[in-house]
Amino acid sequence: MHTIMPMISFKEYLCPDTIEEAYELTQKKSNIIIGGMLWVKMKKNSYNAAIDLSKLGLTYIKEEEDGFHIGAMTSLREIETSNDLKVCFGECFGEALKGIVGVQFRNSATLGGSIYGRYGFSDVFTLFLAMGAKVKLFKGGIMTLEEFKNLPRSYKDVLTEVIVPKNTEKTVYMSQRNTRTDFPVVTCALCLRGGKMYCAIGARPKIAELFIAEDEKIPEDMEFSSNIRASEKYRKQIANVLLKRCINKVKEGV
Ligand SMILES: Cc1cc2nc3c(=O)[nH]c(=O)nc-3n(C[C@H](O)[C@H](O)[C@H](O)COP(=O)(O)OP(=O)(O)OC[C@H]3O[C@@H](n4cnc5c(N)ncnc54)[C@H](O)[C@@H]3O)c2cc1C
Repeated sequence: MHTIMPMISFKEYLCPDTIEEAYELTQKKSNIIIGGMLWVKMKKNSYNAAIDLSKLGLTYIKEEEDGFHIGAMTSLREIETSNDLKVCFGECFGEALKGIVGVQFRNSATLGGSIYGRYGFSDVFTLFLAMGAKVKLFKGGIMTLEEFKNLPRSYKDVLTEVIVPKNTEKTVYMSQRNTRTDFPVVTCALCLRGGKMYCAIGARPKIAELFIAEDEKIPEDMEFSSNIRASEKYRKQIANVLLKRCINKVKEGV
C-alpha cells in the first residue's frame, strides 16, 4: 500500500495587474502571496488562491538619494551578483547569499519571500537587519526591519521593496554551517555606521537580533537554543568567535 504525502494546493492562480488588487486579494485568509514559492511549496495547506506578484514591476535594484531600493520580486541571485551593490557595500551580499542552497535556487528565491517569511535561520534577514534596512509595505508604509520583525505573524500586507541606506561605512558577513549549503548554525553581520558597530546574530536558531557591539561581546541575555544542527552552548561560543572575526575584519578594512 502506498501512502500519498499531502502537499500544498490552490484552487486558483491569480496574477493581479496592480498592487491595490494584490493587497485586496491578500486580505482573504485563504489566499497566499507567492514569491519564488520555494518555502511555500513545502507547506501542506490547501489555499483558495495563489497570488503571483510577477506583473507588478517589483524586480529592480535602484540607487536613490536615501539608499538602494530593491524590489520584492528581485531574486537573491540578482542581489548576490549586483555590481552596484558590490561597489557601494563590498562583498557582504555575496558572502551572505552564497551558502543558500545553490545558484538555481537563488535564481528563484525572492527578497520579498526571504524577508516576509522572517525565518529564524535567515542569512538574508541577518544581513539586512545589521545594515539598518527598511521595508516598504503597501498598507503599512515604511518601517525598520526591527519594527517589521515584531509585527504579528497574522499581519497580511504586500511587501513592495526593501531600502538599504548608504550611510554604512563597512559591512562584514559571516556564518557557520555544518556543511557548505546547509541551513546556518549561526549567522553574524556587523555593520559600521555612524561610528557604531551594529551587530545582528541569527540562526540561534531564532530570528536575528540586533545590538551595538560596544564591548565586542555577545550580550549575556541573548538567547540561544539547541536543535538538530547544534547545541545552545556551541552556538553561543561560535557566535562570539564570528563577532570577533567580523570586528577584526571591519578594523583592518574590508
Ligand atoms: C530547502 C531550503 C533551504 C533554505 N536555506 C536557506 C539558508 O540557508 N539561508 C537563508 O537565508 N534562507 C534559506 N532558505 C530560504 C530561502 O532563501 C527563501 O527565503 C525562501 O525560499 C522564501 O523565498 P521565496 O521567494 O521562495 O518565497 P515564498 O516561499 O514564495 O514565500 C515565503 C513567504 O513570504 C510571503 N511573501 C512572499 N513574497 C511576499 C511579498 N512581496 N509580500 C508579502 N508576502 C510575501 C509568502 O506568502 C510566504 O508566506 C531556504 C529555503 C529552502 C526551501
